[in-house]
Amino acid sequence: MTEFELIGHYFGAWARGVHGAARDGLPLQSFCPDQRVQLGIGDDCAMVRLDERDSLVVSVDTQVEGRHFPRSCAPAHVASRALGAAVSDLAAMGAEPIGCWLALTLPSAVGTWLEAFSLEFRRLTELWNVPLLGGDTTAGPLQVSITVLGRVETAKALRRGAARAGDDLWVSGCLGEASAALAFLENDSSVSLSAVSAGIGTDSRECLLHRYHHPEPRLALGRWLLGRASAAIDISDGLLADLGHLCAASGIGARLDLEALPVSDALRAAAGLEKARHFMLQGGDDYELCFAAPVDQRDCIGESGWDVWRIGQFTSDLDILICHNGSCSLAVPEGFDHFRPTPRPGEAS
Ligand code: ADP
Ligand code: MG
Repeated sequence: MTEFELIGHYFGAWARGVHGAARDGLPLQSFCPDQRVQLGIGDDCAMVRLDERDSLVVSVDTQVEGRHFPRSCAPAHVASRALGAAVSDLAAMGAEPIGCWLALTLPSAVGTWLEAFSLEFRRLTELWNVPLLGGDTTAGPLQVSITVLGRVETAKALRRGAARAGDDLWVSGCLGEASAALAFLENDSSVSLSAVSAGIGTDSRECLLHRYHHPEPRLALGRWLLGRASAAIDISDGLLADLGHLCAASGIGARLDLEALPVSDALRAAAGLEKARHFMLQGGDDYELCFAAPVDQRDCIGESGWDVWRIGQFTSDLDILICHNGSCSLAVPEGFDHFRPTPRPGEAS
C-alpha cells in the first residue's frame, strides 16, 4: 500500500478522499457539519472560512531523522529543512503566513544542538514572517513537526483541484538540485554517485547542498499567482509525483515538454544531462511551485520577471505524458512515498 492509498483508505474515504475531492462531486459539507470548512483532506492545506473574504489555511508537516534528513544533518539544517517544507504548503495555496507551532521530539537535551537549531529557526520565522505561536516538546527519536497557519482570499486560493484541460503547465525555478545533493550526501551508488561527483566543482557542490539544506518556500510567487493561476501544488515529492496529485485532484492529465524544463548549470555539472533530468522529474525536496494557468495569462506570467517556466499543457486525457524529441511516453512517477514496498534508491531506511 502506498502512502496515498493508506491516507485515502483509512483517513480519506470518510472525509472526502485524497484524490477524490474534485471527481466524486460531493460537497465537503456532507461529511463536515461546519459550513466554514472550505477544503479538507487532499490539498496542501485545509481551508476554514474566516470572514466574508478570507479563509484560514493550515497544514502540518513532520520530518524524521534518518528519513527526511541524514543522521549527520547539522541542527541549523534540520531547522531550515523542516520549516521550509512546512511553510512551502502555505506558498502552494497562495497564502500569507500568520504563524507556526513547533512539536519537537529530542533524544536528549543537548544545549549546543538546541542553540544552533533555535537560532536558525528564529531567523527563518522572522525572514518568512511566520512567528512561533506554540508547540510541544517530548523525548524520543529526533523528529520535527511543524504546523503552519496562514490566510488567503477564499475565492482565489490556489487549490490542487481547479486546473482545467487546456491550461498551461508552469513550474518555478530549477528542479532536481536538492535530490542530487541528497544522493551526493548518501554516497548512493545506485544513483550513480560517480556521475554526481565526477567533474563537480566546489561551487556546484555547494550550490546543490545549499538547495537541499535551505529550501525556499515561494511565498511571494504564490501570492502573486492569486487570480492568475487556476491551481497549484508545491513540489515536495518530485515533479511527476506532485503533478500527478494536481492532475488527479483536477480530473485531468498533462503533456510535459522535457526540453522546456531548465537544467541548472550546477546540476548539469554534477550529474550530466540525462541523470539531471532524472533528478528533475523524480527527485523531491525542490519546494518550487507547479501550477496551472489559463492560456490568456500566458504573456502576463511569462513576462512578469518571475523565475517561472512554461513546460507543457493540461489535457482532458488522464495520462501524464513526457514529450521529448518529437515523441511522447507515459510518465511513471517514482517520487517519494513513505510506504513504497521497495525503498527507492537514495531513500534512507
Ligand atoms: P504535502 O506533501 O502537501 O504536505 P501530503 O502528501 O503530506 O501533503 O498529504 C496529502 C494530503 O493528505 C494532505 O491534504 C494531507 O493533509 C492529507 N493527510 C496526510 N496524512 C493524513 C492523515 N494521517 N490523516 C488525514 N489526512 C492526511
Ligand atoms: Mg505540499
